Amino acid sequence: MRIRDLYDRPVPTISFEFFPPKNDAAEAALFADTVPGLKSLNPAFISVTYGAGGSTRNTTTRIVQRLRDQCGIESMPHLTCVGSTQEMLGNFLDEILKLGFENVLALRGDPPKDQTTFQAVAGGFSYATDLIRFTRSRSKICIGAACYPEGHVETRFKHQDWDIAAQKVDAGAEFLITQMFYDWSDFLDMEDYLRNKKNVKVPIVPGILPFLNAAQIKRFTSLCGSKLPTPIRARIENYTDDESVRQLGVEVCTEICAKLMNRVAGFHFYCLNRVQSSAEVLRNLGLAT
Ligand SMILES: Cc1cc2nc3c(=O)[nH]c(=O)nc-3n(C[C@H](O)[C@H](O)[C@H](O)COP(=O)(O)OP(=O)(O)OC[C@H]3O[C@@H](n4cnc5c(N)ncnc54)[C@H](O)[C@@H]3O)c2cc1C
Repeated sequence: MRIRDLYDRPVPTISFEFFPPKNDAAEAALFADTVPGLKSLNPAFISVTYGAGGSTRNTTTRIVQRLRDQCGIESMPHLTCVGSTQEMLGNFLDEILKLGFENVLALRGDPPKDQTTFQAVAGGFSYATDLIRFTRSRSKICIGAACYPEGHVETRFKHQDWDIAAQKVDAGAEFLITQMFYDWSDFLDMEDYLRNKKNVKVPIVPGILPFLNAAQIKRFTSLCGSKLPTPIRARIENYTDDESVRQLGVEVCTEICAKLMNRVAGFHFYCLNRVQSSAEVLRNLGLAT
């Protein structure tokens, strides 16, 4: 099933994102606990991230296969340019096509931990747009890409980054999923720019991260350059326990989704391989029982 088509349905298209489990025990727990819990929420698809330099290549592929073949859930691998030549990227694309996958999320990827700036390998790509163009030149696979309501962390001007989102669509991306954000006006500004100034027609899907604890959300927002609005930060500072912060994450994400529900084709939950918070947001919105 092409994900672009899933976004045409009259109901909000709900998806979740997994990171590849670090070991066999974590993978067993993911499939024993998290997947059944998320499946009961009726997701349209689950995507699985791709680690630096292809470090999770085999796990990413195995998890998307297990989700689709054993659990009956549409799934999509991510692919990044980090540490990979065009030949390596082409091999990955050939492999997923051979396995029958119809979708891929094409990204540049973050610099590996030992590098401060992104360095393309010789014979590799510097930008996601190059990977999207390359992917499109090889196949008709449905391509998704990332976009950034507040601008990418390496960009000084968010409009420049929004222009790049439009270039990704011109290169072949058929849907865009956003970085996490906690001020919906950032999403609305980017959406307005892409729709009205750049004539972007593809679905622009909010990426929703219901945070689990204070240290985590401070780290994530600082790493990806997203704002944690002052009222939310102040409430987090007032709590001394993780559960209160988790509940705040549910409240904040419910509010963002409710605000945007009538104008977007779906929501992509960065669920952090957990069920509870995403399920609570969806129930609050009346999108799950
Ligand atoms: C939905 C989603 C899923 C993700 N999944 C993963 C994953 O699985 N694995 C992973 O490692 N990371 C993942 N990331 C993180 C992502 O890889 C990082 O944000 C990365 O730093 C940028 O990737 P990109 O595809 O947006 O890159 P790009 O769009 O290529 O942008 C990277 C930087 O280059 C600049 N740029 C782009 N094109 C040009 C150009 N032509 N000229 C000059 N500058 C340019 C942009 O402004 C930006 O600052 C994900 C992010 C999102 C939002």
